[in-house]
Amino acid sequence: MRAVSPVTHFLVGWMVANVPRGVGRRERAAIAIAGVAPDLDGLGVIPEVLTRHSAHPLNWFSEYHHVLGHNVFFAIIVAAVCFAVARQRRWLTTLLAAISFHLHLLCDVLGGRGPDGYQWPVPYLAPLSERWTWTWSGQWALNAWPNFVVTGVCLAATFYLAWRRGYSPIEIVSPRADAAFVGALRQRFPLPAAG
Ligand SMILES: [Zn+2]
Repeated sequence: MRAVSPVTHFLVGWMVANVPRGVGRRERAAIAIAGVAPDLDGLGVIPEVLTRHSAHPLNWFSEYHHVLGHNVFFAIIVAAVCFAVARQRRWLTTLLAAISFHLHLLCDVLGGRGPDGYQWPVPYLAPLSERWTWTWSGQWALNAWPNFVVTGVCLAATFYLAWRRGYSPIEIVSPRADAAFVGALRQRFPLPAAG
């Protein structure tokens, strides 16, 4: 694994979606997914692996990961998609999606160093300019403890929010399964009586 785990990015995005109350289900999903969206440029790993031993290997992962999706222009595209997808509180959803996206870039800069020591710089103005290519000398490795701490804290917060607010990321796939999950949580840990 050469980037901060998509699970971590997703959970961070989910936190962002839940900062203000009253963001709808559809909008929460858009904001959380915006936090993973930069890594769409890593899908080139599939043709790269498939063609590795062919006469004309496609090095799409090596060439494009952290380039195509990790910049301000893709951020604008993702924010625009979120604006289009949102049905309520559109501007808030768009703003939170942009924050979620940028936290992804920040997490990558802070904690995305690969096992080979490569820093996976974030070329913020690519492909227009090479200025503002972000790296941080203190960057920790992907399997370093801060990544586990961030993932663990976000996961714990996700469980807490599910218990407290009555929904979790499972709702993106199936609201019914999510209701069952929340029900099980609340059966195990009853909500305090209102009042
Ligand atoms: Zn990334």
